[in-house]
Amino acid sequence: MLSERVNRIMLSPTLRISARAAQMRAQGIDVVDFSVGEPDFPTPEAVKRAAKAALDADFTKYTANDGIVELKRAICEKLERENGLHYTPDEVIVSTGAKNSLFNLAMSLFEPGDDILIPAPYWVSYPDQVKVCGANPVFIRTREEEGFKLHPRDLAAAITPNTKALVLNYPCNPTGACYTREELEEIAAICVREQTVVIADEIYEKLLYDGRRFVSIASLGEAIKKLTVVVNGFSKAFSMTGWRLGYAAGPREIIAACSKVQSHNTSNATSFVQKAAVTALKECSMEVERMRQEFERRRNAVVYRLRAIPGISCAQPPGAFYVMPNVSAYLDKEYAGAPIRNTYGLAYYLLKEAHVAVVPGEAFGTDAHVRISFATSLERIEEGCRRIAQALARLEEPRRLRPRALANVVTKVSNYVETRRVTDLATRNELLAECERHLPADSYFEWNAAIAGAVVQLRTSSPHLADFFQENFYPAPLEGELEPHAVLYAVKDVPGREACAFVSLETSSGFLFNTAFYGQVRSLALQLAAEAAARASGALMVHCAVLDVDGAGVLVWGGPGSGRTSLLAQALQRDGVRLVAADAGLVRWGTAAPVVDLVERKLYLKAKWARAVGEIEKVLERSKLENIVTNRVACHVDHPDDTCPLDRGASACLEASTTGRIMFDPYWLGGGRRHVRRTVPRVSVFLAADPVLPLVQELQPREAARLLASGTLPGAQGKPVPFLNPHLAGLDSAREDFLRAQHERLFAATRVVLLNTTLGAKDALAARLVELAR
Ligand code: PMP
Repeated sequence: MLSERVNRIMLSPTLRISARAAQMRAQGIDVVDFSVGEPDFPTPEAVKRAAKAALDADFTKYTANDGIVELKRAICEKLERENGLHYTPDEVIVSTGAKNSLFNLAMSLFEPGDDILIPAPYWVSYPDQVKVCGANPVFIRTREEEGFKLHPRDLAAAITPNTKALVLNYPCNPTGACYTREELEEIAAICVREQTVVIADEIYEKLLYDGRRFVSIASLGEAIKKLTVVVNGFSKAFSMTGWRLGYAAGPREIIAACSKVQSHNTSNATSFVQKAAVTALKECSMEVERMRQEFERRRNAVVYRLRAIPGISCAQPPGAFYVMPNVSAYLDKEYAGAPIRNTYGLAYYLLKEAHVAVVPGEAFGTDAHVRISFATSLERIEEGCRRIAQALARLEEPRRLRPRALANVVTKVSNYVETRRVTDLATRNELLAECERHLPADSYFEWNAAIAGAVVQLRTSSPHLADFFQENFYPAPLEGELEPHAVLYAVKDVPGREACAFVSLETSSGFLFNTAFYGQVRSLALQLAAEAAARASGALMVHCAVLDVDGAGVLVWGGPGSGRTSLLAQALQRDGVRLVAADAGLVRWGTAAPVVDLVERKLYLKAKWARAVGEIEKVLERSKLENIVTNRVACHVDHPDDTCPLDRGASACLEASTTGRIMFDPYWLGGGRRHVRRTVPRVSVFLAADPVLPLVQELQPREAARLLASGTLPGAQGKPVPFLNPHLAGLDSAREDFLRAQHERLFAATRVVLLNTTLGAKDALAARLVELAR
C-alpha cells in the first residue's frame, strides 16, 4: 500500500529513543535523557512578549508564502552583520524550521541519479531526505582523530560526474566538528572547481567554544556564495525548537524553487512566530551568549567525566551540544550472556540497565560511538556519566568468540524477474554469444551440479551466485568427454540491459542478465533439471513442501499467504515428523509406489522460515545468507515495543529481512531425527482458506490435478499460478497437459485432501496434518 519512496526511509531514530525515554519516565523511572536535541533553556522573554503582542494584534492569518518582509529583512541584516553575507529579501525563504528549509531544498535540487555527499557521522535526516527524493546519499567518512572534520582530500576523491551537492553541517550534529577559515577555503575551492552545490547547515552557529569565531563558507567569495545555500533557524540559538522556525538564504533561483515547493506544502511559517523571530534576531544576543557559556561549562564536565571511564575515548567537540564518546571497547562484551553487538545494542543496554538514554552512533553513520547530548543540567550530566560508568563496568568479557559479521551478501536485485521463454534458435544463439562476451577471464566461475540425476552447469561472473550454487547442490562428477544436460549463464554488468531472464527449453539453456539474486539461478536450475528428468524417466518435480511422518510422506501445497510455513514449523515440533523438502521434491516411479526425494544439498529458505527454527543465532552464524538485514539502519520495521532484535544484540532482524534468504542445512533441524532425504508419498494436502469448506475434504486425483493446474486453491488471493509453481517459465498447453497428467498419476498413488486453514488454531491444524499421514 505504501509508496516505494516512503519504504526507503524510517522514523527518525533520535525521535524514537527520546520517545522511549519519555515512556519510561511516564512509568515513574528516573531516566537521564542524553538523547535530547534541543537546548533546555527557556525561550527569551522578549520573544514571548513579541509573540503575545502579535497575537493580541490578531496577526494570525496567512502571511506571504516565503515569510513576512520584516523578518526577511531582519534575516538579511543578521547575515550581513554577523556573517558578512549580503543577501536581499528575495534571496531568503522563511520556513517551518530549518528541517523544513532543508526538505524544500532537497525537493528542489535532488533527483534520481544524483549523488549527494554527506560527511559521516551526519545528522540523521540528511540521508533520508536524499533518499525520499530518489537520489543517493554518498557518505564521506571523517575521523575521530581529525576532529571528525571533512578532509579536502576525501572530498575531492568522492566527487564524480553524478555529484550534485555537498551537505556541510558545522558546528556538526552529532560530532561538534568545526572548521577554520583556511580549512573552509580548501573545501570551497574544491566545490567551486567541481561546481558542487553546498548546503551549509549553520543551525549550531552560535554554539562555539574556546573562543572560536564562526565563519560561513558562503562568505569566502562570490564564486562559492553562488553555489551555497545557507540554512539556519531559531531552534538552537534561541531555544525555540517548538516554535518551528528556520530559513534558507541563497541564489534567487534556488530560493524561488523552494518557495514553489513550500507553497504546496506548509505555506508560510506561523504568522505570530515570524513576528517573534524578528525580536529574537534583534534583541536576544545576551541570552544566546549566556546559554553558550553554560553549554561550554557542561561540555568540559561531560568530556572530563567520560574520559575518566576506562576504555572510552572522547574527542572534545568545539561546537554544538553533543559529544561522541568512542565505545568500541565495549561492543564485544556481554551482559547476562547476551552479547552487545553494536551501538544500538549498547544504547539499549544503557537505557534498560542504567536508565540513561543515549543515541546509537549507527543512527548517524558510525559504528564506534554513541551520541550524548549535554542539553541537560550539570547535575544530570554527572548522574548520567556515573550510571554509564557503572553499567559499562558490569559488562563481561564474551564467553566465546562470536563472529561479528555474518556471511551475508546484499544484492541489488532481490526478487524474481519474469523468465521469458525463447523458442527460436537464432535468438537463443544471440543470447548465448552475449553471455559469453560478458564472462571475463579474471572473474569466471563454472560449476557442475547434479540435480535430479541431471548435470546442470552454471557459468557466471558472479562469485556470490557461484558460491550459493555450490552450497545449494551436490557436485556432479563430470568426466572429460561428458556434456552437461543443461547450461545456465548468469552474467552481470551487462550494459543496456535491465535484470532479465530467458530460458530455451529446446536447447536446455538459461540466460540471466544483471541479477545476482540467487533465487533466480536456483529456479532455472531446478526447472532445467526437471525437464531433463521428465524426458529421461518421466520423473516429476513437485513444487510443494514435503514432510515425513514415521515413513509416510505428506506433500503440502499452499499459495502465498496460506500459512504453510508456520504450519510446517508447528508440525515439525511433533514426534516422528521430519522435513524432507521445503519447496521442491522429485517424484520417481521406480517400483509400484512412487518415492519423493530432496534434490538439494542445502535448502534455500526465506528468512521467515528461519524464524521457525530454534537457536536461530547459531544457524545464522553457520549459514550463507542473502539480503538479511544485519544493520540497524536498514531495519525499516516498526517493531511493536520499538526495539528491534538488533537492539538486543541479535545479529540479524529477520522480520525486516523480507527479501532475505538462508542457505540452510536441513540436518541443523535436529539431525536425522528431524530430516530425511526420501519418503514415500502417502497424502497430498492442499491448504485452502475457505470458511465454507469442512476441515478436511477428500479430492479425486483428476479433480486435484485440475485444481492444482488452475493455480487457485479455495480462498487464495492474487493471480492464479499454474501448479502453484511460479518457476515454470514458458508453460504452453502441451507441457501443461503433460504436467497435469503426471500430477494426476501422483495423486492416484496418494490420498488427496483440502485442509481448511480457517478452522482451528495452528497447533491443532498441525496435529491434524500429521494425523492425515497416520
Ligand atoms: N540541522 C541540524 C544539524 C539539526 O541538528 C537540527 C535539529 N536537530 C536541524 C537542522 C533542524 O532544526 P529545526 O528545529 O529548525 O527544524
